[in-house]
Amino acid sequence: MVGEDTGTLFIVSAPIGNLSDITYRAVETLRSVHLIAAEDTRRSKILLNHYQIQTPLSSFHSYNQVKKGRGFVEMMKEGKNLALVSDAGTPGVSDPLFHLARLAIESGIPVLPVPGPSAAVAALTVSGLPMDRFVFEGFLPVKKRRMTRLKELAEEKRTIVLYESPRRMERTLRDLHGTFGDRPIAVARELTKIHEEVIRGNLATLAVEQGRQWRGEITLVVGGCPRRRDDGPPSDAAVETEDEKRGLE
Ligand code: SAM
Repeated sequence: MVGEDTGTLFIVSAPIGNLSDITYRAVETLRSVHLIAAEDTRRSKILLNHYQIQTPLSSFHSYNQVKKGRGFVEMMKEGKNLALVSDAGTPGVSDPLFHLARLAIESGIPVLPVPGPSAAVAALTVSGLPMDRFVFEGFLPVKKRRMTRLKELAEEKRTIVLYESPRRMERTLRDLHGTFGDRPIAVARELTKIHEEVIRGNLATLAVEQGRQWRGEITLVVGGCPRRRDDGPPSDAAVETEDEKRGLE
């Protein structure tokens, strides 16, 4: 439902690398709104130039979100349409942009999705691990609560998706192996970009591997805690059950 008296906030998903990974509707929306609120205007400018979109950009980041957010809401109350874009993928997924969506919702402004890529889902699809159910954890805490979080996650039976910076990869692989034990893992690196790579292996091997230089943007997909005999059907059986429900068996 587009706003009648007020403007609308469109949450627009952007590519995670390859600039062609954007929907027609996303391009049309970015062209037609009055203003685009962007996490990093320089990065979004590359996308806008590629599609010859001339809509003005305004920065929206954690350090200015309160003041800027209020200003954007005022504009939408006056009838202006805004689009929100992040540096990559879907706004609000492990970036601070969800604050604007919440502010708009609290102010009675329609908030509509223009869906598209997200690194988490893209990585899952090529991981080879069960994805009928999964948990998305974003970035692990770096200091406080890191071990507590890892210990909680060690019990998780569903496939786990994490974002990680290349600087912390060695430590994270070691910590995951230390708390989870050996598990299958897929490291999805630079998806949709020139140096795209998916490393499918196990934690025991990757955690002790020496000398690998981790580079670029990385998403980790880790197998869930192996089920015990009395835990009920495994994930694969859950897929079949879903198929059965839809009459596809
Ligand atoms: N909102 C984004 C989304 O929907 O995917 C995620 C934003 S988060 C700040 C950025 C993190 O996403 C990176 O540090 C990396 O872990 C992951 N990421 C982004 N692009 C990626 C890519 N092309 N390949 C693998 N992981 C990626």
